[in-house]
Amino acid sequence: MTSTVSPTKDIPLLREACLIGGKWVSGDESNSISVNNPATGAIIGRVPRFGRPETAEAISAAHTAFKVWSKMTAVERCNLMLAWADLISENQKELAQLLTIEMGKPLAESMGEVGITANYIRFFAEEGKRVYGDVIPSPWKDRRIMVTKEPLGVVGAITPWNFPSSMLGRKLAAALGSGCTVVAKPASQTPYSALILGELAEKAGIPAGVINIITGSAAQIADEMCENENVRKITFTGSTPVGKQLASKALANMKKVSMELGGNAPFIVFDSADIDKAVDGAIASKFRNSGQTCVCANRIYAQAGIYDEFSAKLKAAIDEQLRVGDGLDPDVNQGPLIDEHAVAKVEELITDAVEKGGTVVSGGKRDAHGGSFFEPTLLLNATPDMKVAKEETFGPFAPVFKFESEDDAIRMANDTEYGLACYFYSQDLGQTFRVMEALEYGLVGVNEGVITTEYAPFGGYKDSGMGNEGSKYGIDDYINIKYSCIGGLGI
Ligand code: NAP
Repeated sequence: MTSTVSPTKDIPLLREACLIGGKWVSGDESNSISVNNPATGAIIGRVPRFGRPETAEAISAAHTAFKVWSKMTAVERCNLMLAWADLISENQKELAQLLTIEMGKPLAESMGEVGITANYIRFFAEEGKRVYGDVIPSPWKDRRIMVTKEPLGVVGAITPWNFPSSMLGRKLAAALGSGCTVVAKPASQTPYSALILGELAEKAGIPAGVINIITGSAAQIADEMCENENVRKITFTGSTPVGKQLASKALANMKKVSMELGGNAPFIVFDSADIDKAVDGAIASKFRNSGQTCVCANRIYAQAGIYDEFSAKLKAAIDEQLRVGDGLDPDVNQGPLIDEHAVAKVEELITDAVEKGGTVVSGGKRDAHGGSFFEPTLLLNATPDMKVAKEETFGPFAPVFKFESEDDAIRMANDTEYGLACYFYSQDLGQTFRVMEALEYGLVGVNEGVITTEYAPFGGYKDSGMGNEGSKYGIDDYINIKYSCIGGLGI
């Protein structure tokens, strides 16, 4: 099924070079990374396999650009960023197609993701104007205490393949809004949505070197970012094991870190829930991006009194609403998984669950489309000893566990090293507050299955990471706080 298409002819926004200090730098074809469309297996293009020297060059460009960008007023930066966001919106359809071709998600989801990227940029363009300082009442008569906030400097950003546009967009937005400059490394499987963001930023007038984008060896690029003295911060979105490794390297060199890592989201449906709304929420939360989001419902818990009704309605919704196929087909809402490893992981978890007594009532196997397509799967009678109770699935597999009491649900929901997103459905106000406060998670969806917005913070507890993206809190991760003591006032 592998074939080659001519990239520049077929996909106009495809850029096969890296952006370093305002120049597009191509690599040697013999040392490049080929990028596949997961829906067809076709190679859609290549990007350079760069390493430490090119990363050092990009850091140097970002360091030089910082002197210009950080000295501009927040209003000047805002205007350039708004022009950038407008270019993204003007090209939303073409950017969405590019995203679907390299990542596989349905076109409607890609349109939404590109829209969110523009929204993050608009939000932080404006938020940059509100990086207020402070004057603190002084304990001394002749001195004043002034607190100012300053951008950190050069930021190293590493992002994953599952949201190739918005995961980078929200890092670039907060970094640039606060006055930082960036060297970014997108995932090797999905570099094109990132590279084109760099080109549109240039077109909008954002100075050369403010955004640099490098593709290549993750380990080499990360090592240079962690060891180069001109980098002040590492921001990473990806898996927990890589995040831990990266954070320890960055901290050894006293770089600040933000880590947006893996999840194992519980989705709890209490007897008091509106069952139809819970089914809609479960479909959206579990099957968006074919289950490949860090905030996807991973474990569904239904209370004994509504277990049968909820499971039957969820099965009907899966069977009737979910259509598998190439994301470019407008009727499709379930694209392929990113690669064969992802399919093998879902198969492993389903096999383990069935061996331990689970019953597959929908899907359960590779889809007839072949390649990395997988059937949306529902499994009943899930139990805590199954691997899926502990491990992030990252695929379209919904296991439903039964619980008796509210305390049981909270205990099972919190029984994980992760703490990113969780969801619950209840129409009992007292229960809503009890459960909301007991769940050890950074994001809580109450009667809602999809809750991300640029206006709210996004960050995990426990092994799901540190720091926040989005909202007024997102900018804090990119600033230094400076205390100036102004003395000798003779007062
Ligand atoms: P991953 O394997 O950790 O890769 C993420 C990024 O890290 C890619 O750019 C990858 O580069 C790079 N990388 C790989 N090895 C590295 C190393 N040794 N040092 C530095 N960077 C390295 O994760 P993934 O499979 O792409 O993404 C899925 C994971 O991301 C899931 O666990 C998901 O929950 C998490 N995620 C979290 C959030 C959040 O906001 N919390 C959002 C989305 C996804 P290459 O592509 O070149 O290997």
